[in-house]
Amino acid sequence: MTSALPAFAAVVVAAGSGSRSGGAKQWRALGGKPVIRWSVEALLKAGADDVVIVIPAGADAEAAEALAGLTGWRAAHGGATRAGSVQAGLAALGGPEDRPVLVHDAARPFLSSAVIARCVQTLDEADGALPALPVADSLRRAVDGLVAGSVEREALWRAQTPQAFRLKTLTDAYAAWPADEAASDEATVVERAGGRVKIVEGDARLMKLTYPEDFAMAEALIPRTVRIGQGYDVHRWGPGESVWLCGLEIPHDQTLIGHSDADAGLHALTDASLGAMGDGDIGDHFPPTDPQWKGASSDRFLVHAVERLHVRGGRLVNVDVTLICERPKVKPHRQAMRERLAGLLSLPLDAVSVKATTTEAMGFTGRGEGLAAQAVATIDLPA
Ligand code: MG
Repeated sequence: MTSALPAFAAVVVAAGSGSRSGGAKQWRALGGKPVIRWSVEALLKAGADDVVIVIPAGADAEAAEALAGLTGWRAAHGGATRAGSVQAGLAALGGPEDRPVLVHDAARPFLSSAVIARCVQTLDEADGALPALPVADSLRRAVDGLVAGSVEREALWRAQTPQAFRLKTLTDAYAAWPADEAASDEATVVERAGGRVKIVEGDARLMKLTYPEDFAMAEALIPRTVRIGQGYDVHRWGPGESVWLCGLEIPHDQTLIGHSDADAGLHALTDASLGAMGDGDIGDHFPPTDPQWKGASSDRFLVHAVERLHVRGGRLVNVDVTLICERPKVKPHRQAMRERLAGLLSLPLDAVSVKATTTEAMGFTGRGEGLAAQAVATIDLPA
């Protein structure tokens, strides 16, 4: 798909402070990864042989963390203006004068290989490429909040990035740009210098994250996948006065024996959550040989699993736990267990089920030797 593209480089501008979006949005998580990572991954996947990200001075650690595990990128420090930042990126890039360079805003995370290819290929026939969308809404002029005429939209386009140019074309155009004038984008700078910048088909998904509410809309655009995990746990009965089940302490004439508080319901649920992510089991994360988990309250294990899910941009959809025992009677505590789990998991009550069954006096649960718990967790994750 991308092998036919000539070699190209990219400058990703991420030097803004993000004052309108309420903070430095380039590092903020979107679908489980930082905003800037979406663009850098897309460019590398499309075949970019050199990617310079332009970041605020002092943000190198954030950049390294945001792009951990990716190779083929490096950082440069931005200037006071967008134009200054792009020029800093071009200077860091260097290379042959006719090298195709894409300049892209990190705040536009949903960059497709198709848009990248259209931009690069257009440099065979023009001095620059500008992805843009036609204006669908009708346009009105207003004065003091009152309609004062309309604006012809036929010749108007909504400019996006990445914008593509050959390295020398862009550096020369910036060198000729008046220092006291703000440049809105590279197409403007190259066009002013006499270059022919061709409009190519943009992508509605290339929306720019500008305001805080844009993040919710962007999250909704990310394809997600549903996964299911299951867990099973058993603990042995021993002498005691109460038992922990599904995060509740219930008075009983025995207790469950274990390294932690032996809450088999929470253990099964933790394993179900980890299992849905393919993230090992409770023993991997909390080894029973580790003394720090002796007597531990098992809600910590479940919260840990859910936190690992959130880091990946995932969320729990529903959980269903079955406790298998003859005693204690679970039914009187079911509602309180559901409420406790719903609180721990930040789920609505109807997404949390606790059930109980006996084994009709058969087997180890029937003989009262131990209690078993089964759980299922449904999650959804960025695809
Ligand atoms: Mg256990």
